[in-house]
Amino acid sequence: MSLPRTMRALRLTAWGAPPELVELPVPEPAAGEVLLRVEAAGLCHSDLHIMDAPAGRMPYELPFTLGHEVVGTVVATGAEVDHAWLERLVAVHGVWSCGRCRACRRGRENYCFALTGPIGCGIGYDGGLADYLLVPDVRHLVAAEGSDPVRLAPLTDAGLTAQHVVRSLGADLDGATAVVVGVGGLGHLALQLLAPARLACLVAVDPRSEARRLAIRLGADAVTASAKDAAEWLDDREDGQGADIVLDFVGSPETLDAAADLLAPGGRIVVVGSAGGSVEAAKGGRLPRGFAVTAPFWGTRRDLEEVVALAASGAVRAETETFSLAEAPAAYARLRAGEIQGRAVVVPAR
Ligand code: NAD
Ligand code: ZN
Ligand code: ZN
Repeated sequence: MSLPRTMRALRLTAWGAPPELVELPVPEPAAGEVLLRVEAAGLCHSDLHIMDAPAGRMPYELPFTLGHEVVGTVVATGAEVDHAWLERLVAVHGVWSCGRCRACRRGRENYCFALTGPIGCGIGYDGGLADYLLVPDVRHLVAAEGSDPVRLAPLTDAGLTAQHVVRSLGADLDGATAVVVGVGGLGHLALQLLAPARLACLVAVDPRSEARRLAIRLGADAVTASAKDAAEWLDDREDGQGADIVLDFVGSPETLDAAADLLAPGGRIVVVGSAGGSVEAAKGGRLPRGFAVTAPFWGTRRDLEEVVALAASGAVRAETETFSLAEAPAAYARLRAGEIQGRAVVVPAR
């Protein structure tokens, strides 16, 4: 296949500044690497946190190309890579783990000990908001033939992170009252992944009325505009006592404050969002007896395989709005303004 010499890429070139669309050489895969033609790449709220960060906060060197939710077609392989990968549609596991450390050997690649600086695709290393993406190892690919790349792209982070959270909760979900805070990219997929759990009650929180409508459509028993309202709603219920599980996909001072208030004894707050809030995990402090607070990061390769399979079976479906690569800066502005329902997805070929 003949490839062009240059491509477009949306790069972060300065901290605290919007990314720029630039022209770059199409990378050539070295031994062990593969080159993908990007079919679709999702825009994550974390990208906004990254571009807003002042110099020195993030352990990444500039410039790099954004885009950590990527689906592509393998168009070139480096030496030592099985040619059978060529032409395959793949989802990228964006955590570019070492594959050798204890965490990796335990299948916990998202907590790879080697990832002390750049994390992976579009997070410190060049990502998929470009016409082509270089992936350092086929370990990071999950075959996804037959999938719609636009629906699939959000599953590689929004869906993967939600799947990691829901899988980690396991039997703790049985009979539980759960609150999902934030029904955006991650939250709307989490609601779908929670659907098979035998929850007693599922409350979704979002200040946007369209997001609350979406939450009801996705199976929430109740919706409120703020986490504080959810606490009041739960207090008024027959068995009171708040929520056993709070999944906070916002993570702001306001939402975590409310989460601490509405937690039931033995309950768990899962802090997924990165909006600057904190919870004091002191024994005998504000949180009820037996509390747990976790702050999971992204997901494992197994979680990605599982969520891709769930999507193939129709159990999970990302709500998406598509944009061209040139429209990506405007799409980020809409994400920041809370105007995206589900996930914004860039299709470079559009
Ligand atoms: P998003 O912008 O798509 O969705 C956020 C949602 O929260 C929106 O629907 C918004 O209306 C809602 N919201 C805003 N303020 C709220 C409030 N006070 N109470 C309730 N809802 C509120 O964002 P996203 O891409 O889904 O990401 C969500 C968060 O998760 C971000 O902070 C992101 O950085 C973080 N994140 C973490 C991980 C991880 O591995 N831990 C992975 C991906 C994203
Ligand atoms: Zn993300
Ligand atoms: Zn590792």
